[in-house]
Amino acid sequence: MKTTQLETKAIIIGAGPAGAGTSIYLTQAGIPHIIIEKETFPRDKVCGDACSGKTAFVLRKANPQWLQEIFSQPENYTPSHGIIFVAPNGKSLNIPYNPNRVPGEQAPGFTTPRMVFDNFLFQKLPSPYATIFQQAAVKSIERLDDGKVKVVFTKDNETYEVIAPLIVGADGDKSAVRKTFLNDHTSPKAYAVGLRAYYKDVTELNKDNFIELHFLPEMLPGYFWIFPLPNGIVNVGVGILSERIRSKKINLREQMLNAIKNNPNIKHRFANAELVDKIQGWGLPMGMEQHPISGDNFLLTGDAASLIDPFSGEGIGNALYSGMLCAYAIEKALAEKQYSRAFLKQAYDDVLYKRIGDELKISATLQKLCRYPWLFNFVVNKANKSPSLSKTISCMFTDLDLREQLRKPSFYAKILLNR
Ligand SMILES: Cc1cc2nc3c(=O)[nH]c(=O)nc-3n(C[C@H](O)[C@H](O)[C@H](O)COP(=O)(O)OP(=O)(O)OC[C@H]3O[C@@H](n4cnc5c(N)ncnc54)[C@H](O)[C@@H]3O)c2cc1C
Repeated sequence: MKTTQLETKAIIIGAGPAGAGTSIYLTQAGIPHIIIEKETFPRDKVCGDACSGKTAFVLRKANPQWLQEIFSQPENYTPSHGIIFVAPNGKSLNIPYNPNRVPGEQAPGFTTPRMVFDNFLFQKLPSPYATIFQQAAVKSIERLDDGKVKVVFTKDNETYEVIAPLIVGADGDKSAVRKTFLNDHTSPKAYAVGLRAYYKDVTELNKDNFIELHFLPEMLPGYFWIFPLPNGIVNVGVGILSERIRSKKINLREQMLNAIKNNPNIKHRFANAELVDKIQGWGLPMGMEQHPISGDNFLLTGDAASLIDPFSGEGIGNALYSGMLCAYAIEKALAEKQYSRAFLKQAYDDVLYKRIGDELKISATLQKLCRYPWLFNFVVNKANKSPSLSKTISCMFTDLDLREQLRKPSFYAKILLNR
């Protein structure tokens, strides 16, 4: 077998949103890098397929044209204007992302099958700075005596040895980069498991494509979701903490199908619905607490860094966002020829947690509060009667200081007293 040796500035393992985000911003900085991806695009990824405002933010910052491209393809992307929360007692609360929305305004978020979206991102990667290998099988990852990193992989009966001062783990939930360099174990408290199913002919979808989160009592603090996609397809799924699955011996598939068949709020909407693909599962590593996401010569991004929002289950936005910040950190490290744990912590971990640490902390608290169905029922009941409370909750999507209120007992006391 022929062996080819390559040297570059940074190696990225994985070309999902985290790897794509890193590559796009490395290209913008003119930094040569090599991407090693085990699949061939377009490839699927089990997901709810909902992209939030953070995804839109990173795309807009990279190239404002890209969002125009997305919103001009209704056959591939569905603009979404809000969320419907269904409390454990079955009462629902419609929350627009922008309560002051003017007609014709671009939606803050969208839904799109990952088969489409990840391929959209992948198509943006080719550049004079990015060398991309797909269908590549990584054989080993090691740190050399001179402090550089070496990755050996095979592709089409050829062996490649790539050397760089930095490696980026963008290889998702079961990250080989994380396992090689970080000796940590994901706690079951910070890990959820989800199932995804594609259906057609589900009825009573919101006219502005609000995504629906049904907090069913048997799934708390997880939920059942219904997310409308283009072409009359709907992404349906469940996400539950793995700790709960284990302790209650839950059969996730049975629980999801049971909700579709028997839940009084849901079953009539699936009366004529048809499953159009097989039901598939995947893990969700969540950012429940701050932990190291870099070390000597390596940086972790997206799911490899456990950055999924613990309340909403969103991970695409944080994958792209961490990719962007990772590229900025690489730029700094290369400029100063500093690849140590201490330098990368300052250049990457500290910057990332400064930007999204509070948001993750609030979501971790919200997830814990969701274990109390009465509290959820109470807030939804009150918000349905109070337009100002409903508007406050809407604004929480964009205003972090306002969202911080949700962590405080005084917020609930004020609702109780109608203030
Ligand atoms: C059931 C479910 C529902 C979800 N719903 C949503 C949602 O609605 N909205 C949302 O924002 N997030 C959602 N998420 C989370 C979201 O899917 C992830 O956070 C997101 O995919 C993370 O992107 P990533 O690039 O880090 O990882 P991935 O998307 O997993 O990409 C990793 C890439 O690395 C490649 N790779 C892996 N190992 C190797 C290797 N050894 N060598 C080379 N390449 C490798 C993979 O092939 C893949 O292309 C959901 C997750 C699940 C499981």
